[in-house]
Amino acid sequence: MCGIVGYAGHHQAAPLLLDGLSKLEYRGYDSAGLCVQGENGFQVAKAKGRLQVLREQVHDGQDLIGTVGIGHTRWATHGAPSDVNSHPQVSDSGRIAVVHNGIIENDAALRADLLAKGVSFHSETDTEAVANLIGWYYEQCGDFVASVRQAVKRIRGSYALGILCEDNPGTIIAVKQDSPLIFGFGKGENFIASDVPAILKYTQTVAYLDDGDMAIFNNEYVTFLNAAGEPVAKQRETITWELAAAERGGYDHFMLKEIYEQPKALRATISPRLMGGRVVLDGLELSKEYLQSLKKIYLVACGSAYYVSVVAKYTIEKACRIPTEAMMASEFRYCDPVVNEHNLVIIISQSGETADTLAALREAKRRGARTLAIVNVVGSAIAKTADDVIYTWAGPEIAVATTKAFTTQLAVVYLLTLAMAEALGTMSQEDYTQVIQGLEKLPEQVESVLCEENVKKIDYVAKRYCDHHDAFYIGRNLDSAICLEGSLKLKEVAYLHSEAYPAGELKHGPISLIEDGTLVVCLATIRELFEKTTSNIKEVKARGADVVCITLEELEGPAEQVADSTIGIPAIHPMLQPTLALIPLQLLAYDVALNRGCDVDKPRNLAKSVTVE
Ligand code: GLU
Repeated sequence: MCGIVGYAGHHQAAPLLLDGLSKLEYRGYDSAGLCVQGENGFQVAKAKGRLQVLREQVHDGQDLIGTVGIGHTRWATHGAPSDVNSHPQVSDSGRIAVVHNGIIENDAALRADLLAKGVSFHSETDTEAVANLIGWYYEQCGDFVASVRQAVKRIRGSYALGILCEDNPGTIIAVKQDSPLIFGFGKGENFIASDVPAILKYTQTVAYLDDGDMAIFNNEYVTFLNAAGEPVAKQRETITWELAAAERGGYDHFMLKEIYEQPKALRATISPRLMGGRVVLDGLELSKEYLQSLKKIYLVACGSAYYVSVVAKYTIEKACRIPTEAMMASEFRYCDPVVNEHNLVIIISQSGETADTLAALREAKRRGARTLAIVNVVGSAIAKTADDVIYTWAGPEIAVATTKAFTTQLAVVYLLTLAMAEALGTMSQEDYTQVIQGLEKLPEQVESVLCEENVKKIDYVAKRYCDHHDAFYIGRNLDSAICLEGSLKLKEVAYLHSEAYPAGELKHGPISLIEDGTLVVCLATIRELFEKTTSNIKEVKARGADVVCITLEELEGPAEQVADSTIGIPAIHPMLQPTLALIPLQLLAYDVALNRGCDVDKPRNLAKSVTVE
């Protein structure tokens, strides 16, 4: 959500900032802006819309001369997307320029206070209150660092800030609280950014700022201060992945590339954790006594990661016999959950920065629960805050709509389930071995679902149904959990209204919406429930629906008798089947979106890393 880049060096800043912002476009945004500090002070350019609009306005950066600057892509929270609300926000005094990711919760009070002091506001943003607050302190004391420190003490909420001061050319101050920010060390140049891809072309050596940290830097030097204002040494980390991993590499879209990267991502996530026919989970200690002491396991997440949690509820309860509940993080936080030391709270987040999920994690810790995070981004806030962490090794995921992060999160759920079931003795040795064997072949099975024949069938279905207004996704048990994710994918990237419903529940209400030509996507991959699910297909067919059925290859024959189209997937251990069932749904959403002319990688209104509540 939103992107920040800052540069102090010896190259022209504007082209470099634009390049960095382009690597952060995946985070979702609605406007963009730059401030370059040149010989004659600030040069600010801002534009509503895509980065390309700003790029054209400043002639690829040629118009802004100077080697120090800050850039921003905005995802509006306070005030509509517009040129004036775009960042950087410059203080009323004209001396302070700020880019900001996050939300200032006491914006109204700060604004009122500053207005009373005679400071004027020109935008609707909460960020302008920060610029004006720093500006006001600066007018009082004339010290850039001291004014930022004083302002930070008064602002509440989440922020990653990049700040310039007209009287301190060459220096940038960065500070963060509950929003991601990294520092990049170069030679004769230094960087800040919301995420690694923005600066990876220029440096692989970074430091992750912690909450309360401040970086004061120019082209040569950097000083890090902690929240107490004491100098701290930040650990330098080397980024090992290549920029190519965050580029499209021949695919039309990141989403498609990431769908096809799933076998590799699954291998990377699963293989290191299987040793000698057993699951070994990154040193995680889950003893039988501890697991038996648990009254309930909670899985807490947002969006697709929440749907991973719904799958996990079925999987963990079946294999481990521990009551398990999936909860949306935004609800968990405020529902006064019955959580204490007898609960394990599993937190799932791709970015590890999701604001709602981070807040829920803190709430769970506060109530005494043990917390375990499943995240994709090393060093992220959630990874650092949880008691234990298991990383998904999906690599950078750029498309806003998740694919490979989802399937690798699911893989970690399978591994965790096996580890807990083994400790508890709730799974037979035979079953355990079969799941392990299934996990070993899961990546190649995913490859086989992505075969040309399936791709052609899905292309055909997508063309045929792309003009529909509504779709239903139905299935039973684990299939119904995967329907939630399939349906969300269609909403997210194809802007098509769709509902996911347990197949047996349809007749209790939503069947009234089925009429001639309504698209129903049915998942029927569970052998024992196949006949029940085909009965549900007949019910919707009788009311005019067009049905696409995704089922096991061996059941495709009977499915063809009832559905309009079928797609077959290979059978695997039933616990792992959801992964294979999802792949055609990802492709279907992608194809429908293409046919509808949607911006697949950057769907409207959505952000990748949702760092506001
Ligand atoms: N809250 C700020 C605004 O609405 C920043 C939003 C963002 O993170 O882009 O301008």
